[in-house]
Amino acid sequence: MTRIVCQFSCGAASAVATKLALAQYSGTHDVQIINAFLKQEHKVNRRFLADCESWLARPVTVLRDEKYGASTVQVFRRERFMKGPNGAPCSRLLKRKLLDAWKQPGDIMVFGYTAEEEDRLDDFRERNPDRPVIAPLIDRGLSKSDCKAMVERAGLVPPLMYRLGYDNANCIGCVKGGEGYWRAIAQDFPEEFEELCQVQDEIGEGAYLFRDRKTGIRYSLRDLPPGPVRRNEALPSCSFFCDMAEQEYAA
Ligand code: SF4
Repeated sequence: MTRIVCQFSCGAASAVATKLALAQYSGTHDVQIINAFLKQEHKVNRRFLADCESWLARPVTVLRDEKYGASTVQVFRRERFMKGPNGAPCSRLLKRKLLDAWKQPGDIMVFGYTAEEEDRLDDFRERNPDRPVIAPLIDRGLSKSDCKAMVERAGLVPPLMYRLGYDNANCIGCVKGGEGYWRAIAQDFPEEFEELCQVQDEIGEGAYLFRDRKTGIRYSLRDLPPGPVRRNEALPSCSFFCDMAEQEYAA
């Protein structure tokens, strides 16, 4: 039986995409749900996953990286950078590699892209005509906020990061975030922020995430200039498949 592979990222969009894929395909396909454990995600994400297993009436297969202890901080320390032109090493090494080892030929991937991300799906399909993917949220015109509302209406308590006002349930201190996002992390999660500052202190400029627009000089999180705090800054989602798509863009 062909496998339909849903990646559950502890976010509202992936939960709804999985629910829809199960409703549509569970009688005709082998629907699998996978998740990558990440040490830097908020602990409440695990509770959300357990609640979703009840809602979906299916267990989620949790994959966990061993080489880096499933820790983004270990990835940064050992790889000596935090973000490069081809994306984030944490996403590639802690998620994509697990998927590569787990996937089988013929798998159909479920993308949790929302209606706002239709162009990303079009790009992916154009560049990968032989790679079958389905996108239940885009097919139904569901936005990110629709998914959050659907999760709440199902009686699920959203991950704490949403309740604090963040746009997603990514790691605490996601390298895909902008300055406003990082100012919020510094306020809300000072210990995690300080740990990442220390990583940058150790590695130096190669790990810096930001660059002064006028001078081109790169600067560390510790030197983040004052400015607006943006908890709700839209961050790219971080999933096995988003990383796969981004690698294609970068190729
Ligand atoms: S959520 Fe952000 S920090 Fe965490 S693995 Fe993904 S890209 Fe890296």
